[in-house]
Amino acid sequence: MQTIKIIFAATLTAIFFCLGCMSEAEEMQENVIISDKAQFPHQELIVYSSPAKYSYEDFLHDVKILRENYPTQIQVLKLCDTADGREVFDIVLGDLNGENQILIFGAMHAREYITTQIVMRQLCESLNAVGGNGDNYRGVSAAELLQGLTIHFVPNSNPDGVAISQFGLSAVNNPALRAQVAAMSDDLEQWKANARGVDLNRNFDAGWYEFIGAPYPASERYKGTFPGSEPEAAALIHLTQDYHIKRAISYHTCGALIYWYYKQSGNVLTESQKFAEEISRTTGYYLDDDYTAVDAAGYKDWAVYKIGVPSITIEVGAENGDYINPVPQSQFNAIWSRNKNVVYATAYNLKFE
Ligand SMILES: [Zn+2]
Repeated sequence: MQTIKIIFAATLTAIFFCLGCMSEAEEMQENVIISDKAQFPHQELIVYSSPAKYSYEDFLHDVKILRENYPTQIQVLKLCDTADGREVFDIVLGDLNGENQILIFGAMHAREYITTQIVMRQLCESLNAVGGNGDNYRGVSAAELLQGLTIHFVPNSNPDGVAISQFGLSAVNNPALRAQVAAMSDDLEQWKANARGVDLNRNFDAGWYEFIGAPYPASERYKGTFPGSEPEAAALIHLTQDYHIKRAISYHTCGALIYWYYKQSGNVLTESQKFAEEISRTTGYYLDDDYTAVDAAGYKDWAVYKIGVPSITIEVGAENGDYINPVPQSQFNAIWSRNKNVVYATAYNLKFE
C-alpha cells in the first residue's frame, strides 16, 4: 500500500481552495436528473447538471462537496500523480479492511470520459442508498445490499488524457509533454492514451508481450515499455492486489455490451460468468466472450487471468445504435438508466450468487 496515501482534510482543503473558481460546467444546467429520494446535496454537485464535458476540476469540486457532507462515510485516497501534474483519486465507501470489496473505474480511455459521470453518479446514489434512501434490487433493499461491502470508486482513472480529449493542447500543463502530444496526433478529441502516449488499457500483464499495437507512443494502442509502466495502471494494479477486491468493473465506450472472458478457468470462470450475467440482466447489454476479436493487455484481462478477480468491461454509449466517440452528452440519460443499478447488481451477485 506504499503508493496509496490518505489525503487529510487540511491538504484537500488547500488543494480545492485553489480550484474553487466557476467552471464551464457550472454554467450548463441542462438535462438535470435528480433521484426522487436524493438526500445528498445534488444542487451543489456539478455531475448532476450533466455538463457536456465533466472536467477534472469539476470532478475535484464534487469530491470536495461529498467529503464535506459525508466525512465519516467516505475516504478519499490518492492513488498516484500523473505525468502532467494531476492526481488519480479513489473514493472509498466502507471499511478498507473489509473482506468483500468492489472496484469500479471509468475513463481509462481518455475520450470515453462520459464514464466518469456514470461512476460519480453511482457513488452519489450509493451514498444515498447507504443512508436508507435507495430503491430495491431484486427484492432486496439497496441499503441491505451494500451493508458490509466496501466499494472503491475511481471515476477518472486517466485525468491527463481526459483533459487532452476534452480541451486539447491548452490542457497540457508541461511544455515538453505538450510538444510530444502535438506530434502524436492532430485529432486530440479522439485521444485515448495518457499524456505520455501510453494506452493504459494495453499496459497490463495479460497478453502484453504478444500484443503489437503501435510501435511508439501514440494516441492509442501503444502498450508502454513494460506492464504497469504507467502510474495510472500501476495504481489500479496495487489497489486490486492490496485490498480484498472481489469484483471489478472497467467502464468504456462505445458499445452496449459486456466483455467478461480472457482465458480464465475454474472458479474464476464460473464466478466471472455469473457476475457478467447479473450485470447483463440489469443493463440489457449482451455478453461478448470473444477475447480474440479485441486487443489484449487490458485491466479486465489481467484481473481475471493473472490474479483471479472476477472482472468485466462494460461498454456504454450505443444504447440507441449510434457508435460515436466521445459519446455525446445527449446519450447520458439512456446510459444512466441502464447502469443505475450496476452497483446493486454487483453487490447482489457477490452476496447471493
Ligand atoms: Zn475504451
